[in-house]
Amino acid sequence: MSDSSAVRFADRLNNVETSAIRELFKLLGKPGIISFAGGFPDAAMFDVDGIRQASLAALEQEPGAALQYGATEGYQPLREQLAEFMGSKGAQVLPEQLLVTTGSQQALDLLGKTLISPGDKVIVEGPTFLATIQCFRLYGAQLITAPIDGHGVDVQRLEQLIVEHRPKFVYLIPTFGNPSGAMLSLERRHQVLEMAVRHDTLIVEDDPYGDLYFGEAPPPSLLALSDQVPGSRQRLVHCGSLSKVLSPGLRVGWMIAPPELLAKAVMCKQFSDAHTSTFAQATAAQYLKAGRMPGTLQRVRQVYAQRAQAMVEALRSELGEAVSFVAPQGGLFVWARLTGAGGRLADGNELARRAIEHGVAFVPGAPFFARDPDVSTFRLSFATVGEDRIREGVGRLAKALQG
Ligand code: PMP
Repeated sequence: MSDSSAVRFADRLNNVETSAIRELFKLLGKPGIISFAGGFPDAAMFDVDGIRQASLAALEQEPGAALQYGATEGYQPLREQLAEFMGSKGAQVLPEQLLVTTGSQQALDLLGKTLISPGDKVIVEGPTFLATIQCFRLYGAQLITAPIDGHGVDVQRLEQLIVEHRPKFVYLIPTFGNPSGAMLSLERRHQVLEMAVRHDTLIVEDDPYGDLYFGEAPPPSLLALSDQVPGSRQRLVHCGSLSKVLSPGLRVGWMIAPPELLAKAVMCKQFSDAHTSTFAQATAAQYLKAGRMPGTLQRVRQVYAQRAQAMVEALRSELGEAVSFVAPQGGLFVWARLTGAGGRLADGNELARRAIEHGVAFVPGAPFFARDPDVSTFRLSFATVGEDRIREGVGRLAKALQG
């Protein structure tokens, strides 16, 4: 403790605390531990060669742009490539409608900055992405949680909450959410868009995982579907990211928003980081231009699909009725609930503690709830662990559950 009072923090810091998960991560250095805790993609799958070629091309073909300050809105060739990428997924977007952000995390921060005044209500899913909870709280948001089931957010409950609370906006991760892994059905997607129009409510679609599907492609994004629901596009924000499919270290994400909101976000970004790294943007643009993305996507989908299957099978055979979960159809996570069957443990925090002693780590579910935490839940990531180690890790988990 310092004896000086020269550092006097802003009141907004009272709204957040360092996450419980960080404490858990400190234990992950234990030798031999199998970690299902991270939210990272697997570094072994980074297309290093493709990114090397793209970065060289950026330096050789456009050194002035790649190393110079750039426009806050983003590097134009990248905006064009990203608009085309979105188009390949059924969403018609002009480059001018897209702001390149420093990861999609910055898009969330810009939404907080531009939309949330202290005390404003924002509806999020229960559970939702932890950093979103923290980020919106930092701006003083009062978070309301809409429950989810195996098909994503409960739309009837969501509508009641919208009517009751008149939120500034609703934040959803409709496709393979973090931590839920859930996929919002096509029918519910339409209902969400219709609701946005009916109640004149802004919807934020965060979509960093939509490309990571294992079998059939998921239903189109809310953004892609918004063309079919008149009036919904101007009530929709879409956040995308290259982090999970290409590399989180590049820090390239984007935000597509109604023009008046995009303009304010650009203004705020200008005072924050001026622009996303031009070198990263030029590299990403070259990468997309080289046409490597489809091959990369195919490769990562296949690897994650195998790992997800190994985890689902191991959970079923090793833990049986002690856990319930919906097998994910994409993304990086299995979201599970301890049923307490046979008088067994039903507390995810306690299981996480015991699991570390048995050499396996995962994240308990409670911190992912902005309100009314369900302590019986937990999140397992299969992304960075090979299939044999997944089976071994789930076996250890079963032992931890036995006591
Ligand atoms: N949204 C969700 C739902 C996430 O899970 C993550 C990363 N874990 C992000 C946004 C931020 O990703 P990035 O800033 O790397 O694009």
